[in-house]
Amino acid sequence: MKVKEETLRWLKSNDLRAKKKYGQNFLIDNDILEDIAAIPNISKEDTIVEIGPGLGNLTEKLIKKAKRVIAFEIDEDMIKVLETRFAKESNLELVKKDILKVDIKDHIKSNEKIKIVANLPYYITTPILFKILEEWSDCTESMTVMVQKEVAERMISKSRSKDYGILTVNIDYYGTATKAFDVPNSAFLPQPNVTSSVTFIKIEKKHNVINKEIFFKFVKAAFSKRRKKLTNSLESTNFLGLTKEEINKILESNGIKENARAEELSVEEFVKVANYIAK
Ligand code: SAM
Repeated sequence: MKVKEETLRWLKSNDLRAKKKYGQNFLIDNDILEDIAAIPNISKEDTIVEIGPGLGNLTEKLIKKAKRVIAFEIDEDMIKVLETRFAKESNLELVKKDILKVDIKDHIKSNEKIKIVANLPYYITTPILFKILEEWSDCTESMTVMVQKEVAERMISKSRSKDYGILTVNIDYYGTATKAFDVPNSAFLPQPNVTSSVTFIKIEKKHNVINKEIFFKFVKAAFSKRRKKLTNSLESTNFLGLTKEEINKILESNGIKENARAEELSVEEFVKVANYIAK
């Protein structure tokens, strides 16, 4: 049966409709589902964490490839469908939980690594991305995520572009992001109002940051007023209580122009300045 018909059948037989409040846009294009599941190179050794399995269209591909799939779903109605649909599958663990409240250590072994795969609910894309990066990066190998196209652009952009910002620097701190492909609205049921893209983030440590707290405080303060000069953004957010003269001296010592804006600094330059301050 085609994925679209099967999706409609699961909805109808359970008297369900896609819930907007949970960002439910189900993937109904089999080729795209196969293409997403192929990105993280899943083997029978792998533990996959799926965020928001919904009716299980992507889950079905993942359980065939992985050793173990842990799927976190907030919607009780979806859980009921998933329990019926995958009743015979022994390598799927369904967890009815808000992903933003999950402590991943409660679900995996201390040395277990995970690969995250998700068609994310768009209403909480950024909080989910930040949570995974900040809390799960030690146990995560990669993330394969469907996001709004404009979020994908922010994830992969380079300095001096309009999309470059806190998300870009965060992602680059924890890993390397690449865009896999765009997905047309017709691949979803119901169709979202925005264009979507699948992105792949390989988690890897590339930057030698001395003090993580100072680094992230600096990035946040720097981007607090995008249009302003970096000096003014740092001064107006009272960054580390530094005076304008002290800020100017720090930037000058690191070869940053007096009138530079945050978006002009590469991630390496953010690291350089933060490490200078930390020392
Ligand atoms: N994976 C399915 C697919 O591709 O067809 C559904 C994807 S749909 C875009 C997003 C899914 O995330 C929905 O099933 C929704 O119920 C679930 N969801 C929304 N908010 C959530 C949350 N806070 N925690 C866990 N799952 C959530």
